Amino acid sequence: MTERQPSSLKLSEFNWINRFAQLGDTFSTPLSATALPSPRWMAFSRPLAQEMGLTDTWMEEPGVLEALSGNAVLKGSAPLASVYSGHQFGHWAGQLGDGRALYLGEIVSPVGPLEIQLKGAGPTPYSRRADGRAVLRSTVREFLCSEAMAGLGIPTTRALCMVSSPQPVYREELETAAVLTRVAPSFIRFGHFEHFAANQNKAALKTLAEFVLDLVEEQLKTHLNLSALSGLSFEEKCLAFLELTAINYAKLMSQWQGVGFCHGVMNTDNMSILGLTMDYGPFQFMDAFDPQHICNHSDHEGRYRYAQQPQIAYWNLFCLGQAFASLIEDTEKIVNALSLFKARLPLEVERVYQSKLGLLHRASPQTVGADTPLAEGILQVLAQERVDYSIFWRQLSTAVLNVPRLGRVAFQGVNDLFLDARGFESWLDSYLDRLKSESLEASAQCMLKSNPKFVLRNHLCETAIQAANAGDASEIERLMHVLSTPFDEHPGFESFADHPPHWAQSLSISCSS
Ligand code: AMP
Ligand code: MG
Repeated sequence: MTERQPSSLKLSEFNWINRFAQLGDTFSTPLSATALPSPRWMAFSRPLAQEMGLTDTWMEEPGVLEALSGNAVLKGSAPLASVYSGHQFGHWAGQLGDGRALYLGEIVSPVGPLEIQLKGAGPTPYSRRADGRAVLRSTVREFLCSEAMAGLGIPTTRALCMVSSPQPVYREELETAAVLTRVAPSFIRFGHFEHFAANQNKAALKTLAEFVLDLVEEQLKTHLNLSALSGLSFEEKCLAFLELTAINYAKLMSQWQGVGFCHGVMNTDNMSILGLTMDYGPFQFMDAFDPQHICNHSDHEGRYRYAQQPQIAYWNLFCLGQAFASLIEDTEKIVNALSLFKARLPLEVERVYQSKLGLLHRASPQTVGADTPLAEGILQVLAQERVDYSIFWRQLSTAVLNVPRLGRVAFQGVNDLFLDARGFESWLDSYLDRLKSESLEASAQCMLKSNPKFVLRNHLCETAIQAANAGDASEIERLMHVLSTPFDEHPGFESFADHPPHWAQSLSISCSS
């Protein structure tokens, strides 16, 4: 979703194609949202609205607030909740499903077909006695993080807008309800496949696979370097899809690791089949670098800790592979397809850190891995000293920019981030040596585009949430301003790029939302 189109559309003018809805009631249950009292606009994503081709005043169209708060149905929309299952924290959890997400349908936008969902629109047949609502706190977090990830260039589901309501919602304490409008080419999860595999419904599994193969046809053609897929058998296409997914996740994991993003709940029901980051719950952009960091207070064993995310992605891919076992006779072929993840991950991770380090003159494909010790070296030093991850990388970028003028003195500010800078200084020797084969100006420019000045730290979210709870959305808007272009300097917004305040350490984020 990158192409810019003239913004002239209203939400009511889209052509709704609702392809997933047409799969029928094996896959979903048609239902309407539950009415939400006194809905009020809280926030919008201008960048997403522009990509979708919406006018600047799309939200003022009569009936839109009602529709996107669940109080009315847009013409052309076919609301439904879909069924899926999944593995949660390593264990089979059985049937789950859209417990509080409501698919409104699929529109044809200037950047291709997009599904629109409401999150928090009331109970569904899959709510399992929960209320089907989302609280304002978690809605602000998902809204901001979806758009922050997009700003960072990391594949993600998007957030178009959110509405708040005085309706009380009970969690650990009394909170209020909100509804998020989410957008993605598809919200299908690994868990959708696992559901039909577990129920031994091979016909449904095949239908779902065909549906998804259709969705990713262009990516499959690129992956296989073919102009058409017509010469391939169904099984060959399924295998190509598994390969593509394995590669997508190798890329996604390297990007998460690169910006210090912890997802927090990498259950298979939260894994997008398109390799999009989705279902933002107890996520965190790390402050002090700690590879063992656990951002979800409900994750007692640290299954989803930062350093383990790639390994978990691989585990999850195997759950997806297993779900395909009845469609692909030879399980060895499935294992081989998924092993592309293992082959690609080190390559992708090295590429991410090469960009973060401004190393553009890369070794030939035969000597991939040449820059890995340098990347691992600095990560070790950062971990030992618990240095702030984002601040380190941004300061390193500006230091490299200043090297032609200041020489090694340019790194004084970076050096000051360490209590004991000996490890850094010794790493710096090898880094400066490696930089000799680079143009410093080009390296610095690459680093400034790879190391964001602004990430959505927990304490920034928290401040925006507190203001939002008091009815003030201005902090959300200010954050959106910097997070949608996080590599820009944004003079006047420096405080958003600062170290976290002391109180941030006591923030406790759990699955409760
Ligand atoms: P999550 O941890 O948000 O990925 O949710 C796991 C499952 O619980 C999914 O099936 C959700 O739809 C469901 N769920 C979570 N919270 C609620 C809620 N408040 N009401 C209904 N279902 C929920
Ligand atoms: Mg979920």
